[in-house]
Amino acid sequence: MLIVDTMRINKLKPSRLTQPETYSLILACGWTIVIVISLLASISVHRQEIVAIAQNVARAYIDKDILYRNWNAFHGGIYVPTDRGLSPNQFYPPSVQERDVITPSGRRLTLVNPSYMTRQIYEFAQKKDKISGRITSLKPLRPENKADLWEESALREFEQGRQEVSSVVTEGGMRHMRLMRPLVTEESCLPCHAHQGYKKGDIRGGISIRLPMMLFGPAMGKQVGLLWAGHGVMWLLGLTGLYTGYRGLRRRTEERDLAEQELKRLNAILENEATTDSLTGICNRRKFSGRLHMEIQEAKRYGMPLALIFFDIDHFKLVNDTHGHETGDNVLQELVRIVTGMIRQTDIFARFGGEEFVILVHNNDVRTGRELAEKIRSRVEQHRFPQIGSVTCSFGVAQFYPDDTVETFIKRADDAMYAAKQAGRNRVETRCDCQPGAA
Ligand code: GH3
Ligand code: MG
Ligand code: MG
Repeated sequence: MLIVDTMRINKLKPSRLTQPETYSLILACGWTIVIVISLLASISVHRQEIVAIAQNVARAYIDKDILYRNWNAFHGGIYVPTDRGLSPNQFYPPSVQERDVITPSGRRLTLVNPSYMTRQIYEFAQKKDKISGRITSLKPLRPENKADLWEESALREFEQGRQEVSSVVTEGGMRHMRLMRPLVTEESCLPCHAHQGYKKGDIRGGISIRLPMMLFGPAMGKQVGLLWAGHGVMWLLGLTGLYTGYRGLRRRTEERDLAEQELKRLNAILENEATTDSLTGICNRRKFSGRLHMEIQEAKRYGMPLALIFFDIDHFKLVNDTHGHETGDNVLQELVRIVTGMIRQTDIFARFGGEEFVILVHNNDVRTGRELAEKIRSRVEQHRFPQIGSVTCSFGVAQFYPDDTVETFIKRADDAMYAAKQAGRNRVETRCDCQPGAA
């Protein structure tokens, strides 16, 4: 008969079924973080590129303006008709002669120097688009050319030797690229500016450009949209791959857990077979020795009393010989049922071999052990076994001593049982140092 400890097997539930979920979740979070970082980094790089483009556009504007100014300065100014509303520049110093001239046909012309021309062009441009330019100075001839705070700081940097200042600034709720270059006093500038104390090579002021960054908005928006879409597709592909991997991993984990569970179940059966007597279902001798060893350790540590009952069926060979081996087996099983019903759960009942049994009476002294043995003896004697009638047993009871080992303890109980046999069978003998009459 095989009695498997199903309670224990049920406890061997797969413990790692949740692992693939955890791994996959961590990987999915990691993948999402990677994608978000990549997206933010790409958008940031793209913004920097847009700023660089805006800077180059502003530079191109200024380069062209400086070229025209140089051309104007090279020719000592140009004459422009005044009939379209251009008024003569009132800030020329008196040294500038022939500011206004009349052609032989009567047309009025006025002299336009580089600064005046730049201002006219910038004012003209501002009406058409939002790109604006200015000529500024820390010492302006014209009050409107006074530098604002950003320009002032740039002009001071030019005095320290910088050749260009640019940055993206928010003005009026809008982001602008502002770029400024120094205006260096040249020979051709002196007629108008010598009286301010400027000499050739001095930083006279700066020419600045302001570009609204929203001019690049559509390109930026399109590119950012593409980045979002690209990263979104990558993210989804990654998650799909992860999900496929997760399913495979989960299947393998389930298979592994099932195999592990089966292995544990078989191990439990094997262990059960190795420790249980197959005929009666109680502990076998091997298991009993192990448990007795532990009980002895505990008894020694805590000073706990122990009693060991050793009993053997009387003339059992005769039962087999008379009624057959199978009937003998039935007697052994029935005897075990009777005894099991008479002991406590903490007691250890085992088949020691053949028709010999042992009971370790837990936390009780030899007196209680003897009483229990007597009760069992009497009960067995009175029991009617099918076919054969009554059966008797001889009992030996031993007291536990602190210097006992498994072997000495069993031997003493066995000796007591042998004494019971010698004394006529169907009786209880005790081995202890009890007071006369105590056991
Ligand atoms: P005693 O009173 O001196 O113990 O006499 P006994 O006949 O019981 O002792 P003996 O050692 O001569 O015989 C024991 C018998 O127990 C012999 C054997 O056939 C029987 N036996 C041992 N194990 C089993 C078993 O598993 N099933 C059956 N049916 N008989 C068994
Ligand atoms: Mg025997
Ligand atoms: Mg016997």
